[in-house]
Amino acid sequence: MFHGLSRDQAARKHLHAQIQIGGHVYVRNSNKCGPWIARVEKMNGDEIEVTWMYKPSELVHSNPFTTPPCPNELFASTHVDFIDISTIHDIATVALHDNQCDESDRWCWRQLYNPATGDFGEPAPAD
Ligand SMILES: [Zn+2]
Repeated sequence: MFHGLSRDQAARKHLHAQIQIGGHVYVRNSNKCGPWIARVEKMNGDEIEVTWMYKPSELVHSNPFTTPPCPNELFASTHVDFIDISTIHDIATVALHDNQCDESDRWCWRQLYNPATGDFGEPAPAD
């Protein structure tokens, strides 16, 4: 039992324990397209440095696809923000695109998007 903690506090503590650098999280937002997804870059107490994962519908530049996209394909980005840990809603499962995408409902990505320039690039080396 989580003695002395409410159920909400216990759930939050459990969630926070799962947040890892290099992992992905869902971040609450107020619009109707569902939570944002971000990659955790650094953690400093309650302040989390993230890079955002873009959905294809959020790209403001031309269609980058040279092959048909996966149903759950995202774009890693160079867009950095600092968020409070309290805005993290859940852990997200995001993997580099591979031949298991067809059998999985996880999110995948294979291109890096720079929203400042509109450039697309190859994945950064894995950590
Ligand atoms: Zn894929």
